[in-house]
This record gives sequence, C-alpha cells and structure tokens, in this order.
Amino acid sequence: MKTTVAVAVGAGLLLAGTAWASGHSAHWGYSGHEAPEFWGDLSSDYAICKSGKNQSPIDVASLVEAELSPIVFQYHGVPLDIVNNGHTIKVNYAPGSSVIVNGHTSNLLQFHFHTPSENTVKGQFFAMEAHLVHSDDVGNLSVVGVLFEEGSSNPFIEGLWGHMPEKTGVSKSLPEVTVNVTDMLPAKKSYYRFNGSLTTPPCSEGVSWMLLKNPVPVSKAQAVKFHTLMGVDNNRPIQPVNARPVLQ
Ligand SMILES: [Zn+2]
Repeated sequence: MKTTVAVAVGAGLLLAGTAWASGHSAHWGYSGHEAPEFWGDLSSDYAICKSGKNQSPIDVASLVEAELSPIVFQYHGVPLDIVNNGHTIKVNYAPGSSVIVNGHTSNLLQFHFHTPSENTVKGQFFAMEAHLVHSDDVGNLSVVGVLFEEGSSNPFIEGLWGHMPEKTGVSKSLPEVTVNVTDMLPAKKSYYRFNGSLTTPPCSEGVSWMLLKNPVPVSKAQAVKFHTLMGVDNNRPIQPVNARPVLQ
C-alpha cells in the first residue's frame, strides 16, 4: 500500500512537467477549464483533489501548542538543475541533502515556487512561497514551506532568477553554478506542523507539512518577474482544514 502510493506520488512530483506533454495524465492549470476547482474532474487520477479531507494549502489560524522537535537542516550545495515546467520554476536537488525531524531523515528532492503564497496565516497571503519537497526511504513525503514577504531584494532569488528558463518545458543543467537552498531559509526555523497534500494534481494526501513561521524578503520586482513568467497566479485556493490540528 505504502509502496504504491509512493510510486504514484513520486511520478506526479517528478514528472509533472513532462506528463501532460506526453499525454500520460490529464492537462491541468490555474485558469479556465483546467483551473483548480475542476482538477478533481479532469481525471480519475485526480479524484482526491475534490474528495480529499486533508488537502493543501490551508489557512493557518487555529493553533495547538505542542513541543515540536527542531528541524535539523543538512542541505549541501549542488549543481544547478532548473526547469520551467509550465506550472512553476523547479530546482531539482541532487541526492545527499536532507532534513532530520525527531531522528527521522527525509531527503530533499526539489524545491519550487508559488505566487502569491498558497498557505496563508490568519487569512494573510504572502508575496511568494517556496516548497522544499522531501521523501524518506519508503516514500513518505514532507514539505518545508518558506514564506516570502515583499521587501528588500533577495540575493538567493536574484541568483536563481538569473538562470530561470523563460520557455515552458525547458530545463537547464549548469554544473558550473552551485545552489545551496540553506541560503534561502530564514534565520529562525520555528514552524507550523500539519498534515496535508500535494497542492497540484494528483493532490495526494499523507504529506507532512512544516511551514516556517518567519518569512524572508523578496522584492516586488522579483515576485513580479516570476509571476509574469507564469502568466497566472500559480497558487491553489485555500482548502478546508476539517479535523486537522495545526501544531506550533
Ligand atoms: Zn508547491
């Protein structure tokens, strides 16, 4: 059971950019007939986008106090592998970087961006949100979310946007450019913890979310550059929290 889910989820994550081009899964998007409100009807593979009770993103509002273990970040610099898959800009991360939470290791697979933010805090949207997607050895997914608030120019983003492929379906592998996503994290690493899903089809559940509380800056021009390239708000609307506790 777990293995099946992991394989399906992994394929959804890693092949999202090419799957629609090769016709293996339904085309989806953020506007028109492929907009988020229709995702659950586009394909039986996406049914949980509509029927799921633990969907992401959410509005973080009602909090449960808990003793959350610190996230131990063990990210290393890797050669830049960046792709424009038509839904987002994604950086594929070479193996060897991980987070450890409660002694449990999850390996960083990729990170990507949404603008405006997907998760909100007490109803407030942020200018941008990055998702750092991890998988443990049996395919359980966890996502570390980083919120960006409009402010000063972000040097990490500036460097990344300089290599951003402008055309959909284009990826760049730049062995001479090193990226270390540690440089994108806020100094304080406290976080909100909740269960959720992928925020794109197939909307698979069982994803452990850790949303960092402290935002990092992004300039308006940097957020606009990404938004203009996407041509649309690439954030899924807020989903009902239902019975889920949000821990802090
Ligand atoms: Zn995402």
